[in-house]
Amino acid sequence: MDLVIKDARITGREGRVDIGLGGGKIVALEPNLKAPQEISAEGNLVSPSFYEIHIHLDAILTEGDPRPNRSGSLWEGIAIWSERVKRLTREDVRERVLKALPWFVAHGVTHIRTHVDTCDPSLTALKALLEIKREVAEWIEIQIVAFPQLGMFSWEGGDELVRRAVELGADVVGGIPHYEITREYGVQNVKFALELAHQTGLPVDIHCDETDDEQSRFLETMAAETLRLKLSGRVAASHTTAMHSYNNAYADKIIGNVRRAGLHVICNPPDNSVLQGRFDHYPIRRGLTRVKELLAAGVNVAAGHDSVMDPWYPMGKGDPLHTAFVLLHYGLMSGRDDRAHLFPMLSSRAAAIWNNRLVRGSEGLEGHGLAVGNPADLIVWPVPTEDDALRILPMRRYVLKRGRVVAETRPEIARVEGQEVRFLR
Ligand SMILES: [Zn+2]
Repeated sequence: MDLVIKDARITGREGRVDIGLGGGKIVALEPNLKAPQEISAEGNLVSPSFYEIHIHLDAILTEGDPRPNRSGSLWEGIAIWSERVKRLTREDVRERVLKALPWFVAHGVTHIRTHVDTCDPSLTALKALLEIKREVAEWIEIQIVAFPQLGMFSWEGGDELVRRAVELGADVVGGIPHYEITREYGVQNVKFALELAHQTGLPVDIHCDETDDEQSRFLETMAAETLRLKLSGRVAASHTTAMHSYNNAYADKIIGNVRRAGLHVICNPPDNSVLQGRFDHYPIRRGLTRVKELLAAGVNVAAGHDSVMDPWYPMGKGDPLHTAFVLLHYGLMSGRDDRAHLFPMLSSRAAAIWNNRLVRGSEGLEGHGLAVGNPADLIVWPVPTEDDALRILPMRRYVLKRGRVVAETRPEIARVEGQEVRFLR
């Protein structure tokens, strides 16, 4: 045992306990442990680390460059990005990504899955990210998705650029069917991605139906192709915001088939809360996928931030807790049982996607979390419960990756008239 976290509170377990770490794993969960290095949780929560399962690192910190997104819409964001992408250099990508990655780690992120635009024929951002991935692996692990932002068939050579990105080392095959010019191209986009995954053994993560158009139905093709190619557990559909607007009979059918196919769904509350509903007059739709219905049907749903300070989302500081906080409100998940899903959607449910594990209901979520034998990827909080964390959004006290402290924040202590204020009942 190399390190002990003393006096920890763990969700779902009575009382306090010590957590013993050794060889990068959790080796003991019992009182009164001893080790050469000790840190104290002081009776506060210790949780599994976060997986930021959907982000765009190539565009990060470009907000306002070359111009601000005045409408705030997804489409204006794509237009601005297609101008900015022409000026990408290795140094530009390195500078921004290496500045932002520590933001995520400070907030408890130990694994990050980034989509990278592959519609740039020189694949500059992809190559820079492949380099960075090797350099930072000790403190944050990166998965790279080959993402054809402007389409595979509506953008000349888009399909071949995805194939080239995979040859260069991308970890995951991406897609964007709803952005293609025709429905037929969109279906082809999904089929190309899943065939490529089938041939290469890679997983899939497709931006699917990220629109308020209730006619956008590419998720059904994803489910059918996943079943046909036997890729259950390896395929994730990101966004699926059109599901918000489907008629209930169709939504019921597609949710059943998503479960049957063993698809994962990734929602992106911060971005979609501001990008969707832009064509509506009052009442304005929320444009979030049906998170609660999917979970109730036994589908694995995780949550990703999507953007931090880029043409699509001008806010953020790399904190997955912001994602959960927005989801709690915007997804109407303030009820007690719904709140209990929020931490797992940032950790064990996202980790199952990372590890290509088939999840139905809560089966398949093992191998991650506070149990002996699991990786020692942990967050030590300055508050006692998940609810307190969601409410107060405090900085994390310590972040551990494979049993090593990789981030530490001095506690913020407010004093009013000399009295300490902790925001706890
Ligand atoms: Zn995205």
